[in-house]
Amino acid sequence: MGKGRLIVISGFSGAGKGTVVKKLIEKYDYSLSISATTRAPREGEVDGREYYFKTVEEFKSLIDYNGLIEWAQYVENYYGTPRKFVEQEIAEGRNVILEIEVQGAMNIKAQYPDAILIFIATKDIETLEARLKARGTESDEVIRKRITRAAEEADSMDSYEYIVINDVLEECVDAVHSIVVSEECKKENKTRFLIDIKKELEDYIGGR
Ligand code: 5GP
Repeated sequence: MGKGRLIVISGFSGAGKGTVVKKLIEKYDYSLSISATTRAPREGEVDGREYYFKTVEEFKSLIDYNGLIEWAQYVENYYGTPRKFVEQEIAEGRNVILEIEVQGAMNIKAQYPDAILIFIATKDIETLEARLKARGTESDEVIRKRITRAAEEADSMDSYEYIVINDVLEECVDAVHSIVVSEECKKENKTRFLIDIKKELEDYIGGR
């Protein structure tokens, strides 16, 4: 059994990453890493489902015990990826989605060079602002901060291997899945198969 891959999904806050990820999991066979955060839960969010909600102290102790494979500060809160789940899942051959911001994504790529980095964007800033407002969970001040952060993140888009525009949800979901499928088909990821099939063919011909 081959090892699983890490699929890193980043994107502007409000680009609909969360929905894209949810659909990907419903439709295809991906595991989802649940992050730890010091952010307060939004209405409807459940501890252990959207995030593991932590105090700053708890979060810092996770860092101290090497319990996170990466972590970052984003708009005044800490976010990090728990190590144990990710390591278990990839060891068991499952592809794991990490929905994380750009610093975390770069950090993951440095540690896991075969991670697939995908950036989800909206087609324009108006769409982004409208989606953030429609969510209705953040104050104008926080929305402004998130759009400011999006401007910074736009500079990092170049570091991603794939950029997908989330205009029509289903198309975006299928585009992300196609990226993963085509990565898996790359011959670099098929070395074992190439050796085995050549050997089988030789044996077949030799045994005739
Ligand atoms: P939100 O507060 O909207 O749930 O998330 C804010 C940002 O933090 C998003 O860009 C999200 O992708 C990112 N994020 C969530 N979990 C993690 C994590 O474990 N590590 C890092 N680096 N970023 C995360």
